[in-house]
Amino acid sequence: MTTFDKLSKSGNIDLHTHTIYSDGALTPKELVEKAKEAGLGAISISDHENTNGIDEALRVGKKLKVEIIPAVEITTYPTPEKEHHILGYFVDYKDKKFQKELEKIREIREEKSKKVIKNLNDLGFQINFGDLKSMVSGTIVAPHIAWSVINDMENKEKLKEDFGEIPNTGEFIRKYLIPGAPAYEKRKAMTPKEAIDLIHSVGGVAVLAHPCWTIAKKEGNELVFDDKEFEEVVKVGIDGVEVLAHRETQEDTKKCVDHFSTLAKKCKLVVTGGSDFHGFGSAGKDLGYTDFYLKVPYSILDDLKKLKNDQ
Ligand SMILES: [Zn+2]
Ligand SMILES: [Zn+2]
Repeated sequence: MTTFDKLSKSGNIDLHTHTIYSDGALTPKELVEKAKEAGLGAISISDHENTNGIDEALRVGKKLKVEIIPAVEITTYPTPEKEHHILGYFVDYKDKKFQKELEKIREIREEKSKKVIKNLNDLGFQINFGDLKSMVSGTIVAPHIAWSVINDMENKEKLKEDFGEIPNTGEFIRKYLIPGAPAYEKRKAMTPKEAIDLIHSVGGVAVLAHPCWTIAKKEGNELVFDDKEFEEVVKVGIDGVEVLAHRETQEDTKKCVDHFSTLAKKCKLVVTGGSDFHGFGSAGKDLGYTDFYLKVPYSILDDLKKLKNDQ
């Protein structure tokens, strides 16, 4: 075993992060440096429909001895009202056909962002597509839009009226941008099956991201799980589930982790985990969950690699 193996194949990891190539605040280099500082053995770069940050992360990771797992996160719609994010790990991201597919999704996403911004303007919020586009290196997604509205002084009064105080990005997204919310726009996009098939076509392992947000709903104080919906994603070929993901509180997170661990076992799915780190707002937790009780041990990555090798 080399020193590199000894150093990297231990400690905690984070299999869900974003860089400036989607809606993260850090460059791949900054992200890997932060992982090193946090003592993480491995991280995965999983930008939305974009793999442009992976090469830089691999270069820096090699130097700093942080293992980098190439990945992608694809937004899918099983039905127009539902949204599931599918993570693809160990994808052959240099494949030309794969890149073409991602590009197609990015174009559709941009059209959708324009419509969402128009809806927000109609609702009285100040936000401009051109301004936002010039600030973003990758795809414009919900956290960008939320961040832009919240940080525009001209929206301050309206936000205070609406929320009682200035909301964080997560709160704004949940009130305005999720399916069924007033500024939400449907878009033509992949079904979970299409995304899973695409990931498999380039040798990847397909994992259902943060089911604690999409399969679990908060009704009053209760978390309600839609196991039937979960089974639909299992039926179309998902390989794993991001069990180690977070909800707003420790208590709800624990309930979700328990629930989805049980389902993963029952459906024979690999278990993964990550903070969904973005680097600003509250769309995710801090890198490696250093700010939260939940941790993702390196053994999770061993299981993922084993599945990849068995495929
Ligand atoms: Zn996601
Ligand atoms: Zn994400």
